[in-house]
Amino acid sequence: CGIVGYVGHRPALEVVLGGLRRMEYRGYDSAGVAVLDGAGSLTVERKAGRLVNLEGRLDETGRDRFRGTAGMGHTRWATHGAPIDRNSHPHRDTSQRVAVVHNGIIENFAALRAELEADGVELTSDTDSETAAHLIARAYADGPTAGDLPASVRTVCRRLDGAFTLVVAHADEPDLIVAARRSSPLVVGVGDGETFVASDVAAFIEHTREAVELGQDQLVTITRDGYEVTDFAGEPAQAKPFTVAWDL
Ligand code: GLU
Repeated sequence: CGIVGYVGHRPALEVVLGGLRRMEYRGYDSAGVAVLDGAGSLTVERKAGRLVNLEGRLDETGRDRFRGTAGMGHTRWATHGAPIDRNSHPHRDTSQRVAVVHNGIIENFAALRAELEADGVELTSDTDSETAAHLIARAYADGPTAGDLPASVRTVCRRLDGAFTLVVAHADEPDLIVAARRSSPLVVGVGDGETFVASDVAAFIEHTREAVELGQDQLVTITRDGYEVTDFAGEPAQAKPFTVAWDL
């Protein structure tokens, strides 16, 4: 229901949790976070219920496990799979190197799931969203898009039917976050040495008012220095810059 991604110079966990708090008004049933550290690890925590449940869990298990200045967060409004911990986002692939958060519905998830299972992949949730994590991990591991995260996400987006905002991180790419959209909102927030993606400007309004609205079937790669937009074929694309004028 709410999505935020961040690459910058501040501890990502607190920035991401702040963004999720700002989107709480939208309603949700579960929440989760993922943080990349520069040393190639990806740390995830997720919890059914309110954001305070996730925060309680983070306090129990230790917030200092989340070292890193790139990450993502999600508040879920369940459409496929009960609102329980293992269906909460972020979802990961089997190697746990890729993390994905998703808003919307992947209409053809049953066929994608069957294809993955036929290939021996074990799915660990009941969601439509988890299929995207496995498909992206496979596209990144092997074949024409190997080692290229934006290209891997584009390839997978072309295979997804339905409405989605996706935010993707790979442990091997600690300095970037990739996001994509179809029939579901996605905005970029451009700060000073930090860049955000979110489903709603509320997520980053306390940090920057310089925003960019992505068009239909566009993908954005953010780093701390800026952003790059393409269409799902990989061609450079124009997104719409604007300044958030209203007060919160
Ligand atoms: N369809 C996904 C799920 O049920 C995402 C729901 C959402 O937009 O929060 O997990």
